[in-house]
Amino acid sequence: MRAGFRRPGLRLGLRRGFGVAVFVSIAVASLVVVLLVSASAGAATARVRALTDMPDDISGPQVHFLYVVSSDGADGQLDSNGGMEQSIARIQNWLVTQTGNQGLRVDTYNGAPDITFVRLPHSDAQATMTNPWPLWVMGEDLVASGFNDSAKLYAAFYDGHSTWACGGAKSPALPKLGAMYLKAQPTNDPRPCSDAPGFGTGTDRPGYFEIGLLHEILHTIGFAPSCAPHVTEVDHVDDSPTDLMYHPDAKSPAGWDWSHAVLDFNHDDYYGAHIPGCSDLSDSPYLTPMYSLSVIENGPGTVTSTPAGIDCPETCSGLFRSAVTLTAAPSPGAVFAGWTGACSGTATCVVTGKGSVTASFRTPCRVPKVVGKQLVSAKRTITTRRCRTGKVGHAYSRHRKRGLVLSQSRRPGRVLPAGSRIDLVVSRGRRR
Ligand SMILES: [Zn+2]
Repeated sequence: MRAGFRRPGLRLGLRRGFGVAVFVSIAVASLVVVLLVSASAGAATARVRALTDMPDDISGPQVHFLYVVSSDGADGQLDSNGGMEQSIARIQNWLVTQTGNQGLRVDTYNGAPDITFVRLPHSDAQATMTNPWPLWVMGEDLVASGFNDSAKLYAAFYDGHSTWACGGAKSPALPKLGAMYLKAQPTNDPRPCSDAPGFGTGTDRPGYFEIGLLHEILHTIGFAPSCAPHVTEVDHVDDSPTDLMYHPDAKSPAGWDWSHAVLDFNHDDYYGAHIPGCSDLSDSPYLTPMYSLSVIENGPGTVTSTPAGIDCPETCSGLFRSAVTLTAAPSPGAVFAGWTGACSGTATCVVTGKGSVTASFRTPCRVPKVVGKQLVSAKRTITTRRCRTGKVGHAYSRHRKRGLVLSQSRRPGRVLPAGSRIDLVVSRGRRR
């Protein structure tokens, strides 16, 4: 284990551990990814690129996400291709799973995370010219571009390099800035940070950059606090390598086991510890109650949510901090039969809090017009429309030839439960 260069008081380095432990955790993580790759995943959805902080849905403390590229850096479009939105969802899902009901109070615009694209005036090389971490230059450039709202905490993916660490927090110009450096390769590590793997899969399997960004976000708001029992230098804890805020030190040299990360191992330092006089993350204004809502679809149709988040059958669950309105739309030919679970009836469904809702869609009997058809053909059409042929009577007719349907008991165009009976009367021809 090579101890990193440190200056007391700086919270700079999220260095991946070095040594056997790291490779074990990478191997485990890769295996898990292979096993879960077929699990349902929220699809990445393209978004409109925003170059400024858009109007806020909520006021007060919130976490604003940024995708930052240097003046000469390749634009990976993580803000607009849906990638960063998925990263935020993974961070939130992980956090809500750990806390039970709290997530980050994310800056949203029209219900979706407000992610700003920022191209720095400095090049990737210039960003690490005076020191090996790009966070300081990034902080100065962001403040110069107006990203200095005192209520906001800024969380960035910087698509550039560092030879120092994979991420960092607390830029002198912008103390509430935390960032992960997507192209970083610390000199004490044989592999780039992105090999961890950097990004997760689905919404419930975060990658290294996502867990790392949350680690940095917590640093910006003062965690772990110096009054925590297992706190080490520069705001880390050392009671378990799986702790979100762990960092190896002389006493506990094992690499960070981020792929099995937990929020405050044993809840004795900074989350749910409630140590008198010591700040506890559960009280942070940057967290908010969040509820998971899941939709089960029964039959052909779609269910969407306002605010956005659920678009079933692609994405059938989401995390929400306020009431959610669900709208059901049957597929062509189908009808919406109603809600069960957290809602009932067929009107719009509004859910407040954690819940599960089933939306039932039915493909009904749509009564065809069979008058004038041959009986065999009429029966076939009735079956195709998911109805059933009932009693077949016979009558003389001056107008219809023998064998043709004279009348039907249900009016064409009516929508009835699947399997509804349609009685027919068939012509015997003219009475002789
Ligand atoms: Zn750290």
